This record gives sequence, C-alpha cells and structure tokens, in this order.
Amino acid sequence: MTAATSIPRRYLVTGGAGFIGSAVVRQLVRETAHSVLVLDKLTYAGNLDSLAAVSGDARYSFVQADVGDVAAVRSALEGFRPDVVMHLAAESHVDRSIDGPGEFIQTNVVGTFTLLNAVLEYWRGLGEPARRGFRFHHISTDEVFGSLGEEGYFTEETPYQPNSPYSASKAASDHLVRAWHHTYGLPTVTSNCSNNYGPCHFPEKLIPLIILNALEGKPLPVYGQGDNVRDWLYVEDHARALRLIAETGVPGETYNVGGNAERRNIEVVEAVCALMDELAPDASIGPRRGLIRFVADRPGHDRRYAIDASKIRRELGWEPRETFESGLRATVRWYLDNRSWWERIRTGVYRGERLGVVA
Ligand code: NAD
Repeated sequence: MTAATSIPRRYLVTGGAGFIGSAVVRQLVRETAHSVLVLDKLTYAGNLDSLAAVSGDARYSFVQADVGDVAAVRSALEGFRPDVVMHLAAESHVDRSIDGPGEFIQTNVVGTFTLLNAVLEYWRGLGEPARRGFRFHHISTDEVFGSLGEEGYFTEETPYQPNSPYSASKAASDHLVRAWHHTYGLPTVTSNCSNNYGPCHFPEKLIPLIILNALEGKPLPVYGQGDNVRDWLYVEDHARALRLIAETGVPGETYNVGGNAERRNIEVVEAVCALMDELAPDASIGPRRGLIRFVADRPGHDRRYAIDASKIRRELGWEPRETFESGLRATVRWYLDNRSWWERIRTGVYRGERLGVVA
C-alpha cells in the first residue's frame, strides 16, 4: 500500500462522521498525503468529535449534506473534484430498521441512487487519465447474504438473501452500484464486511453497549440465548482494507472483508465482562457476568454470518493486524479513556434503551 499512497489523491468520503467512516478519514489524513472531504448529514449516528483529531489539518474539510440532496452532492463534486468517492453514508442499525424502515430506504437506496447519478455525471465530464483512474467505492455488509447454518462461509459468489429491512436496503444499493458499472461503465468497487467493533462505535451496538452498561453496573442484555454467531473485525483493520480496495481494487469487482474471528454473542459479552473486571474493577458491582440478562430475541435474527476473505488476502494482500482478543482489549481501553466522547451520547440522543421489538 505504501507505494500507492505516496501519490496524493482527493477522497470524498460520505458518512465520514460515522463509526467506520471516521476511522477511514483519520487514517487517510494521518497516514497518507491524500486530501479528504467528508460529506455527512450528521444524523444521530454522525459525530464530529470522532474527527477532532484531524479536523485542524489543511488536507481535511467537511460539508454537512444529505447524499439524497442532488444539488448539495453536485456542488461538493464540482467544488472538491475527487479522484475517489468512498460511500459509507447509511442508516446502519438493524434494530432501528425494524422500528422504522422508511429512513433506510430513503438513505440507503434512494440516497445511493442519487449519489450514483451525480457521480456518473461528474465522471463523464472528466478528461483522461482522471476518468480511468477514478473509483466509486461502495461500502456494504455481509448481511446481504442472509444467514448461514453451522457450516460454510460467504464468498463473493454467494447469492443475496437479505432478511432485515437494513440488509434489504443495503442489498438494493449493492445492485444499483453493480448496474451503474455494467450499464454506464462507472468504475465501481464494492466491499462486503462482517461486524466491526472498535473506538467511536455508537453505544446502541452490542460491544460498546455492554462495555458502558458493565461500567455502570447496569443489566447486560443478550438477545435470545446469545448463540447467534458473528465474525468480528477491528475497525482499524477494516479501514485499512477499505483504503486498499479504493486504491487497488479492480473496477466491477466485489471484495469480502472479515476478521476470521467467529464468536457467539454470549462469548463476546463474557469476554467484555472479563476485560471490564480486569481493567475497571468495582467491588460494588462485583463480577460483571452476574449482570447478564437474556432478553426477547430480535425478530428474524440471522443465526450465523461468516466471511471467506481469501480473495482480498490473495489479490490485494490484506491481512488484519488485530486478533479478536487484542482488538477487544484496545476497544475497552478506548471507552475507559474517552469518557467525554460517549457521555454526551448517553445523556443525549441515546440512553441505552431497547430498540427493534415487533409488537
Ligand atoms: P454509522 O451509523 O456509524 O455512520 C453512518 C454515517 O452516515 C453517520 O455519520 C451519519 O450521519 C451518516 N449519514 C446517514 N444518513 C446520511 C445521509 N442521508 N446523507 C449523508 N450522511 C448520512 O455507520 P457505520 O457503522 O460507520 O457504517 C458505515 C457503512 O459501513 C454503512 O454503509 C454500513 O452499512 C457499512 N457496514 C457497517 C458494518 C458495521 O459493523 N458497523 C459492517 C459492514 C458494513
């Protein structure tokens, strides 16, 4: 990657104030000579605090806009003139998609359509060699493939079988991107990744929710019997994979990204409990395992996701640097050391309530 990153390029990152987008932007500004424009609507999930470490850099800029706002997107494209568009803006939480699927269709499907059209118009106006070097990188999820049984892995050839409103909206956006490449020739790459965890993760998601509830001695809710299996990837490893795909991925191709770290949810929660007992012991709370409570399962909860990431390893040379154990330890430490980042969220937009229960 080092050779490719030495040529300064211009990256427009949608959703750059979110969990994964902000990790990508921090890496781009700190570890490369590239310039970055973040285009983000700043929904409840967007947080400029996650970009504070790079916001003073002359190669970083920000515009608050909706990917579905065609005038705002056109103006960002014409003003910034990107070489690469990385599209991470999305409604991303499965439980919220059960309560209110409309926003998911609007942003993930209609928003991606609007963005693709504006980018196509911009790309058609480029001269050579900028046109050939341009990339539209669409960031998606392994949830589009549906649910696995005990055996097997998702590959790039696995048929799409989305089961939640969230995964259906992401599947639709993946298909639009595919069609804009095949029909109009737009140089696109798509990546489908497993569950991420790490710093700046909004505390409605399993790992940060468990860390913060464990810190405060609150119940630790586990859906069903906790035996759903996910493949976990540390967000900084995902961000490195995304940079590599944006730089060296082949137009029209898709790449699966995963951590080769399958865990049952209950194992994840128990691992967080053990780390919290070690790093933030509290005699008044006692061993955190005692706080675990099994609660009603998520409707339509997919049983198992597991990624075969051999294509990106083989073709692009990517390997995760963190194991699940080292990444989880770094994550717990980050939440303990960055109280101000999450306190504002916990006292404001999200207090840890249960979402996504069908009556
Ligand atoms: P996130 O919810 O933390 O962040 C989403 C960002 O998009 C926020 O900053 C939000 O303000 C912004 N946004 C939402 N709607 C917008 C709109 N209409 N216009 C402009 N900006 C808008 O999500 P995340 O976890 O960082 O996920 C980023 C992407 O990666 C998503 O596309 C998601 O589907 C995908 N993904 C996530 C995971 C995961 O484990 N979190 C795994 C695989 C793929």
